[in-house]
Amino acid sequence: MHRWFRSTCLLFAVLVAGCAPPAAQPGGVARAPEGTLLRKVQDRGKIVIGVKYDVPTFGYLNPRTNQLEGFDVDLGRAIAREVLGSEDRAEFTQAKSADRIPFLNAGQVDLILSTMTANEERAGQIDFTDAYYVAGQSLLVRNGSTVNGIGDLAGRTVCSVTGSTSEANIREKAPRAEVVLFGTYSECVQAMDSGRVEAVTTDDIILLGFANEAPDRYKVVGGQFTIEPYAGGIAKNNPELLQAINDALKRIKASGEWKRIYERNLKGVAVPAEPPVDWREVYRMRPSGA
Ligand code: GLU
Repeated sequence: MHRWFRSTCLLFAVLVAGCAPPAAQPGGVARAPEGTLLRKVQDRGKIVIGVKYDVPTFGYLNPRTNQLEGFDVDLGRAIAREVLGSEDRAEFTQAKSADRIPFLNAGQVDLILSTMTANEERAGQIDFTDAYYVAGQSLLVRNGSTVNGIGDLAGRTVCSVTGSTSEANIREKAPRAEVVLFGTYSECVQAMDSGRVEAVTTDDIILLGFANEAPDRYKVVGGQFTIEPYAGGIAKNNPELLQAINDALKRIKASGEWKRIYERNLKGVAVPAEPPVDWREVYRMRPSGA
């Protein structure tokens, strides 16, 4: 009776696909149930990822090669490989700071990897993956500037980007500075070049990218005065996609690929310990915020 049941079920499984376990995509994760965002991504064969296009270290459309490069781009390709079986299944689109949450909530992108700080306020609007980097806010000034830290900003112009934590932080930490806002950090750097602003403020690793491109013109000063744990963003209520990306991130970290991505994109910056999995833990570890 038992053996009969097993062989009948086996035959049934062969005849009716629905009885078989979900087939794995070649090299990717098992097919997700119909109606889920992960299944939609699988059926499309592409994961649409929003990245920066003007941030040399993390998301940069290199005008010399016309190729996208940076930590977020490499990480996006590795996630596409883990989830969909090939790095070529990552499709990138530009997501400026203020566009990140609206793009997710409009379904325009599946994943944001755009130097995005995970925090409680944003976690009310979108879900965050595991943490994959920890930055801190700092200042970029022209060589020769007398600005050495946030204490020197009173009465001076400082540029940041709409929709960033950097904007909110600088208003709180340097309330007497005059904050000028643009949509991208490269516009801020141009504004400093033209003399419109005296400093640019955002995450140190973004500023370092600009300083490394032109060390004869700019320098990063003032140390880290906030803490910015980066995590991927996805639209709320998509547990299958969230799980698949977190599993991918775990494998990417465990295999040493995270470290290789770091070294490739942040040349000359010592590789730190991997960030804790839970971005909230980063704030608990450094409660002072810097
Ligand atoms: N990490 C900060 C944020 O998410 C600043 C960098 C950015 O605007 O991308 O807002």
